Amino acid sequence: MIGPQPRDPGKRPVPVKDCVTCIHLARLRERASTAGDGSAVTDANVRLRRHQGEEHR
Ligand SMILES: [Zn+2]
Repeated sequence: MIGPQPRDPGKRPVPVKDCVTCIHLARLRERASTAGDGSAVTDANVRLRRHQGEEHR
């Protein structure tokens, strides 16, 4: 189920402060969320999680 405001903490990685990539991806996610583009939100979350897995272990 996809609501207009997905609030699953497990699926919303928190951007690391002062990391340009995190902030960039979080901004994309926010914009997609505002636009109601659920698939873009998911995409941003996947990229954010992958980036954090590689850069912020
Ligand atoms: Zn980062």
